[in-house]
Amino acid sequence: MTDALHSLRLLQPGSIDEAVAALAQHPDARLVAGGTDLLVNIRRGVRQPDLLIDAANIAELKQLSVDGDALIIGAGVTIAALADDALIASRYRALAQAAASIAGPGHRRLGTVGGNLCLDTRCIYYNQSEWWRRANAYCLKNHGETCHVAPKGNRCHAAFSGDLAPALLVLGAEIDVAGPGGSRRIPLAELYVEDGKAHLALKPGELVVKVRLPANPAASAYQKLRVRGAVDYPLAGVAVALARSGADIAQLRIALTGTNSRPFLLAGTDALAQRPLDDQMLKEIDQLVQQQVQPMRTTLMSSNYRRLAAAAIARRLTGELFAA
Ligand SMILES: Cc1cc2nc3c(=O)[nH]c(=O)nc-3n(C[C@H](O)[C@H](O)[C@H](O)COP(=O)(O)OP(=O)(O)OC[C@H]3O[C@@H](n4cnc5c(N)ncnc54)[C@H](O)[C@@H]3O)c2cc1C
Ligand code: SF4
Repeated sequence: MTDALHSLRLLQPGSIDEAVAALAQHPDARLVAGGTDLLVNIRRGVRQPDLLIDAANIAELKQLSVDGDALIIGAGVTIAALADDALIASRYRALAQAAASIAGPGHRRLGTVGGNLCLDTRCIYYNQSEWWRRANAYCLKNHGETCHVAPKGNRCHAAFSGDLAPALLVLGAEIDVAGPGGSRRIPLAELYVEDGKAHLALKPGELVVKVRLPANPAASAYQKLRVRGAVDYPLAGVAVALARSGADIAQLRIALTGTNSRPFLLAGTDALAQRPLDDQMLKEIDQLVQQQVQPMRTTLMSSNYRRLAAAAIARRLTGELFAA
């Protein structure tokens, strides 16, 4: 373990404007929220900022409220607050289930929505101590020249492994982002890029301010495959939102995490609407998932098992929501 934490300096802005100004003034600084991901990475030497900009004192980031026809979730709202919220449990079930499945109670009390959405990507060759990575000549994501997972390629395949993003994607989330160029609102899907080394589409100095969800989303659910039932990242996580119209599906959205370098909405589900759920449709859902997930050898669990599990969870949740 390195002594990287000893040399850190901390700035504590009291507003979003101050945070944006601090990020602009110190381009090499990192924003820290709960620190449950970033501080682990700093201690392992994979991130080495001299200065942290702490979001803990920015009250505006902690808003959790209904505003007209939207639920607003500030980026500084904790995972525990999401998991414990009665409105979220009843109307945004996938989000409550995803939040409750994140890490352990202590992490959930500190960890935030913004930190979860902007979580670094993960790989067995990257989430290691400094001496382990040095002994293995590092890798493309950090200090090295080769990817140990796909040595002939020139991109990093580390997997995005946050639990909230797929739930928010199927629920139709948009995010507000603030930066030196002002504020902008984008669909959550546009935050992500399929590249394990640079998976966020944030411009320099930008931070996520809040998430907006529609007030009346379709019924939804989230499940994840993990090694340990108590505290573990998703090796494949699936969220489904489904609305019925009589005997037919009116709308179906499926999103995945843990299999690719970004969380993503499954393409092709619009074509399944206006049909009843039957074995043929479940087969089509299975095929769509298996075609679009790209699990690589970034975890100790086999890639093919993660592919099959993702498809199986998607089929199961779709069937359960249709029958509910
Ligand atoms: C043992 C263990 C188990 C875990 N298990 C899980 C799990 O099962 N599922 C899961 O999803 N996560 C898991 N985590 C990771 C982590 O605890 C959570 O993802 C948590 O929500 C991260 O939030 P944070 O506020 O602590 O992030 P931080 O560590 O503060 O930040 C993470 C990253 O996000 C950036 N960031 C933070 N806020 C913003 C913002 N508003 N705008 C832009 N960038 C921002 C930071 O700069 C940093 O790069 C686990 C962690 C540990 C240590
Ligand atoms: S996928 Fe390759 S480049 Fe990315 S972290 Fe793993 S070994 Fe490194």
